[in-house]
Amino acid sequence: MNVIRTIHEMRSASRAARVAGKCLGLVPTMGALHEGHLSLVRAAKEQCDAVAVSIFVNPLQFGPKEDFAKYPRTFERDCELLEKEAVDFLFAPAAEEMFPPRAVTYVTVEGLSEKLCGRSRPGHFRGVTTVVSKLFHIVEPDAAFFGQKDAAQATIIRRMVRDLNFPVEIVVGPIVREPDGLAMSSRNAYLGPQQRRAALVLFRALTEVRNRFDQGERNAGKLIAAGKQEFRTEPAVRLDYLEIVDPETLEPRLSVSDRSLIAVAGFVGSTRLIDNITLPG
Ligand code: AMP
Repeated sequence: MNVIRTIHEMRSASRAARVAGKCLGLVPTMGALHEGHLSLVRAAKEQCDAVAVSIFVNPLQFGPKEDFAKYPRTFERDCELLEKEAVDFLFAPAAEEMFPPRAVTYVTVEGLSEKLCGRSRPGHFRGVTTVVSKLFHIVEPDAAFFGQKDAAQATIIRRMVRDLNFPVEIVVGPIVREPDGLAMSSRNAYLGPQQRRAALVLFRALTEVRNRFDQGERNAGKLIAAGKQEFRTEPAVRLDYLEIVDPETLEPRLSVSDRSLIAVAGFVGSTRLIDNITLPG
């Protein structure tokens, strides 16, 4: 695996791959890799001839009071995991490499970026779309792989790619979960044993919504109420939102008659976790 630190070198490597007739896949990550990330790497390996993974803890997508400084950084281990997956390129630039001095240009997907996590994390999605567009320009992948775990992010990136004519196919892989249902996340590493147990309430709430849906309930208000009820059983977790939205527009739905995204976010102590399901699933 070629570990690349500079934009210039990454561009040369990806151009050489394409000149050699290879289809190039990109998996953008912030590192602290787990099976969720690796599932995307495997999907990329299957679909593409060469795979680049980026590891960049993007300061633009963290709010001033969020966990940028303490975000888990496990570079050595990440390298070992990616070596095992036979990844071709690991792009791991420093912040100074990614952001030239006095950088003031951003990519904003207006409207969508204020929905769901965008409401409680102002500027978050602008940070994501700005850095993902930079990565697309630097790596110039044919396909880029994202997780359904960050469902709103996937929707927003798809819209950005459509609106700005990026020549890249967006592939979204399913959520990888722990055996008990907790969605894998780099932030799970913050949780103590009691918090880890409490964190399961996100999955329980989604499961409760799914059960009510399976029993015939279609009214979004009632389904949300049933999911929120689950949170009352777990005072250690503070609900941020539980919403039922159109997966393309992220606008709230009144009824789950068409395909809908059930998205939840909550704080376990100071750790913010998200999860979602799609119904009918
Ligand atoms: P992150 O490093 O958290 O920015 O995530 C990098 C990519 O991995 C994003 O596209 C995420 O949606 C995806 N991802 C994170 N956790 C999971 C998971 N549990 N299952 C599937 N994809 C995931």
